[in-house]
Amino acid sequence: MCHALHDPAFFRFLTQIDAQLAAEARERRCCECAGPLHVADFPRKPRGCPAAVREEYSWRLSFTCGRCDARTTPASVRFLGRRVYVATMLMLVSPPAGSAASTLAGLMAVPVRTVRRWRRWWQRDFQRTVFWRSVRERFAPPVATEGLPQSLLARFQQPTGHERLIRLLRFISPLSTACVIK
Ligand SMILES: [Zn+2]
Repeated sequence: MCHALHDPAFFRFLTQIDAQLAAEARERRCCECAGPLHVADFPRKPRGCPAAVREEYSWRLSFTCGRCDARTTPASVRFLGRRVYVATMLMLVSPPAGSAASTLAGLMAVPVRTVRRWRRWWQRDFQRTVFWRSVRERFAPPVATEGLPQSLLARFQQPTGHERLIRLLRFISPLSTACVIK
């Protein structure tokens, strides 16, 4: 699975998915007033992606409304909310409970406190989200929450690791949008 972290083609494919999600959001128009949306991407500090894609990972696709000026930020498979690390990194590196944060931190060249924060996010914040509460019952038997995110990834049936990861990123992408689509 970890080779996805070093594969620019995989990251570029995620960019294409984000472009598609953005096009769909634009078609739905402003989520406040249904007004027309204008491109208003904002800069992000990408970390955890290959150097070859750093430029395209420096922008989060976003829109502002031409009528009421509200911002609509489409769902993303690359970025989760305000977190600066790309979602892929978050997904792959969040360690299962019990594995040493310091080992993973060394492996991925990120600070130990970052790995601990990811673990906390999966173990606490993620499980409190309206999103997770609304979808967790689709899984039978229930997903072992102490094993997140790997236990969730394991529930997807796509043939390759990359495809399962993309499926999972799409699945949780509603978490990445700032404007709730009604
Ligand atoms: Zn509007």
